Amino acid sequence: MENHREHNPRSPHCHHQCHSCFNMAALLLFVSVSKKCVKCKEAPAALVIRAGDAYCRLCFKDFFIHKFKAVLGKNRIIFPGEKVLLAVSGGPSSCSMLRQVQEGLSEKANKKLRFVPGVAFIDEGAAIGQSVEERQRTVAELQAVFQATGFPFYILPLEQVLDLPASVVATNPSPSEQPASAYKAAVDHFVETDGSNFPRPQEPKKTLLPRVQESHTLMLQQLLASVKTLTAREELLNTLRQHLLVHTARTEGYSKLMLGDSCTRLAVKLLTSISLGRGAQLAQDTGFSDSRYGDIILVRPMRDYSAKEVAYYNHLFTVPSVVIPSVDTKTVDKASIQRLTESFVTKLQTDFPSTVSTIYRTSEKLQTACRKRSGADGCDRCLLCLCSLDTAVEEPSAFQATLISDQLSGSKCLRGSAAETLRPEPGRPESPPPTAQCCSSAEGRGCGRAGSDGGCCSSAKLPETTGLKSLLCYSCALTVRDMSTVNHLPQYILSEAQRRQRRSQMREEISEFLLDDGDEGN
Ligand SMILES: [Zn+2]
Ligand SMILES: [Zn+2]
Repeated sequence: MENHREHNPRSPHCHHQCHSCFNMAALLLFVSVSKKCVKCKEAPAALVIRAGDAYCRLCFKDFFIHKFKAVLGKNRIIFPGEKVLLAVSGGPSSCSMLRQVQEGLSEKANKKLRFVPGVAFIDEGAAIGQSVEERQRTVAELQAVFQATGFPFYILPLEQVLDLPASVVATNPSPSEQPASAYKAAVDHFVETDGSNFPRPQEPKKTLLPRVQESHTLMLQQLLASVKTLTAREELLNTLRQHLLVHTARTEGYSKLMLGDSCTRLAVKLLTSISLGRGAQLAQDTGFSDSRYGDIILVRPMRDYSAKEVAYYNHLFTVPSVVIPSVDTKTVDKASIQRLTESFVTKLQTDFPSTVSTIYRTSEKLQTACRKRSGADGCDRCLLCLCSLDTAVEEPSAFQATLISDQLSGSKCLRGSAAETLRPEPGRPESPPPTAQCCSSAEGRGCGRAGSDGGCCSSAKLPETTGLKSLLCYSCALTVRDMSTVNHLPQYILSEAQRRQRRSQMREEISEFLLDDGDEGN
């Protein structure tokens, strides 16, 4: 099964250029020649998406493009003239999304798209230990793709996540509620003024891979190395990636972030989320739109396309995509929960072609149910994923069980992680070397609190590690539990954690002076 990733045409990671996919597409073109297209009933069918749905080349193109515009039109979330940042990973689905936007904005399109796009790509070469030359090569390849679109684009080395401000994880104001009529009014206005008041796509910026400091690459690698399991490492990478994209959107003036998750990808993500204890966040993780970042809304317009449809489209209309290895490339199925779920879904899909659509339809139902429940905004949010905290729960829950088992095995484990923090950290010159006399002071009361930025060693960091968990949702707390130390987390996360801890400490200190009115929901 070693070559599974490279050659499974049903894998959401498979690129259309791979040998077997190419063969499959060629075979289909050949096999179905005798059939007629179900749409125009004239041209010979070129491909079969589902049993009975045979399309000719042109009708398939219309169907594919129409679906993209329909999903945006139906959800009425992207306003005319709005700046939208497309997150393109180089994979087939996000590259196909980029093509859909190009098609939709072109002059000859009927029902033209009316937003102003930009493209962002995160170079994660550091996470998989690529050399600078390898990274430059990938970036050059993608740059050519982006340049051809004429859209402005941003090449972001993942190392940039280390320089993010704490505001990324602070709760941001949600955009003022737009009444339902606002969308129609905005469209009417756009049509009246012929779109002349709205920003035009700028000249594409020439951004080569920005120079990355070697120390930053080392710090990032140290952070990832401190995560003991692949499952947690993938989760952490997901989180960091999203923070970097949201920050870029914010600083460059984009208000929407478009993600290229296909319905196959989302079906895997949905089951993965459940396995990872992210049940409460399912709707946000997989829905069409996601407003956890407040002013920047994440949008998933590719969620109606299966990986197969995308592969056909990309093949038939030569959409370029770039094969980029990720942390789980060339790993076995059982290497992580994400990988295992993916192989489970894709294998099941082989024998039961409605697997993905069944899971996907479930996700749509979940969404409405969850939306109704989550009414209270401005509540406490998870420090990492920014979803509302799901940890204020009844006693018989997985979260409480984890807490109890933590308490029972606590003393031993914590000592273990304290030993970990005592180790010198070559990549972090700013953290002073731990001093021996400090640790000996019992209970850590005398020495800890004041030196918030690593003044003291184990005794100060112990409450920090345990305290961090109170700021996290159930699933993110599990991710952090799989880290040998939290000290390698980027500074913006640690600073925000300290700020929140100080605030809750203060709240505790003045609590006895406050009137207890009973409805202070935590
Ligand atoms: Zn046709
Ligand atoms: Zn979380």
